[in-house]
Amino acid sequence: MGGANAWETVIGLETHVQLRTNSKMFCGCSAAFGAPPNTNVCPVCLGLPGALPVPNEQAIRLAVRAALALNGTVHPKSVFARKNYFYPDLPKGYQISQFDQPLATDGSLVFLSPDRGVVTVSIVRLHVEEDAGKSLHDRFPKQTAVDLNRCGVPLVEIVTGPDLRSPQEARAYLLTLKQVLEYTGVSDCDMEKGSLRVDANVSVRRVGETALGTKVEVKNINSFAYVEKALTVERDRQIALREAGGTVVQQTMLYDAKENAVRPQRSKEESHDYRYFPDPDLPPLVLSTELVAEQQATLPELPARKRDRFVAQYALSQQDASVLTASRAVADYYEAVVHAGADAKAAANWVMGEVLADAKAHDDQLRASAGALAQLIGLVRGGTLSHQAAKRVFGEVADRGGDPRNVAEALGLVQVADAGVLAGWVSDVLASQPQEVARYRSGETRLLQFFVGQVMKASRGKADPKLAQRVLEEKLTA
Ligand code: ADP
Ligand code: ZN
Ligand code: MG
Repeated sequence: MGGANAWETVIGLETHVQLRTNSKMFCGCSAAFGAPPNTNVCPVCLGLPGALPVPNEQAIRLAVRAALALNGTVHPKSVFARKNYFYPDLPKGYQISQFDQPLATDGSLVFLSPDRGVVTVSIVRLHVEEDAGKSLHDRFPKQTAVDLNRCGVPLVEIVTGPDLRSPQEARAYLLTLKQVLEYTGVSDCDMEKGSLRVDANVSVRRVGETALGTKVEVKNINSFAYVEKALTVERDRQIALREAGGTVVQQTMLYDAKENAVRPQRSKEESHDYRYFPDPDLPPLVLSTELVAEQQATLPELPARKRDRFVAQYALSQQDASVLTASRAVADYYEAVVHAGADAKAAANWVMGEVLADAKAHDDQLRASAGALAQLIGLVRGGTLSHQAAKRVFGEVADRGGDPRNVAEALGLVQVADAGVLAGWVSDVLASQPQEVARYRSGETRLLQFFVGQVMKASRGKADPKLAQRVLEEKLTA
């Protein structure tokens, strides 16, 4: 039997995440992104003879934090090992990593699959390692340059079981992982800055088979969208190959985003015998119970739990709660607006609408204070501002600050809810539209909205439309 439906896709991801530290994993050099090439280096990260590594405590704390956030078992003792290979961006000739005794094992992450609903992925292991440098192929024509600034930057590698079943699912998992790591302050997970990188392993098997097929590892995936694309391309390649009677060969492929294609990595780079052995320069990593307990105690409420709480506490839909908890900053902002007295549903609509649109246009900044937004929502609810006018005030407050009520007054946007003043506009409108008044009185009551529009026009938008409608009805039926 042929066709894509006859095949099941199996995916496991190995994600490298840069820990949010100031300095590198084993030396004092800055770990910041974007410094001029080869300026953040020292004898330790350059691997000069005699230089000794010293583990970065903050990196260890963050790695433990990540492991706990992923429900992992944190091992009191883990071992740094040398992963030996030759490459121009690795002056030491080895990378310090962890091998047979990783920092943590047996974790899990629950995420929402677009295909299967709530799915639990196993996190097989989480270990600490250092990054290598970077080969730059586009800096000089026909030459390769090397930037060693990334050498020794602290990473954790997070490895899932072969639990994902589609490229879409792989992307959803990765976005949830990113969310958890951002919430916990472990990493900023910025794929463009290389602080999150993923190697994707994929195989196919006939539906119903339980044994795993031969896997292919896809590397060089540089964005969340490419995760899905690269895996789709490789999955389709394997299915086509198998349907034509071929066999999948275990190998590493590189994804080419421009061509949306995968091609085998040159096998010279691929012959992996890393000859791991415990690093003689580093004693086993022994974690105190205090350190682990402290990280456990300071874990924030994680996104899934926050989402459920928002649904329960603020009577929001799952969908709205997901949007509001996508980032911790937005979730905190939303709650601050509600605590400042705004109606929960109205606050949700404002944050998902105006606030997120404004943030998107301004570097993710939440520019209007939560207190100001709560006040603005109150002004709409109390009839002082129309929704349309409130949006203008919001823009103004975001741009220039200020008290929403004062801003609304300065802009002349405060609604007139004084029946006496409104009566004047209503009389003017009715006097100038005798034919419509007659039609209304002979039963064409749908003209009411036309009159409301006229009153809004006469008041240049200041009339409270609900009150205008009431005064109109009174006068028209009088
Ligand atoms: P290796 O020894 O080649 O590194 P591992 O067993 O450590 O392989 O697995 C690496 C990653 O590949 C893990 O995320 C794992 O879930 C995934 N994986 C393993 N076997 C398969 C398979 N047959 N199909 C898809 N993914 C797989
Ligand atoms: Zn250094
Ligand atoms: Mg492995």
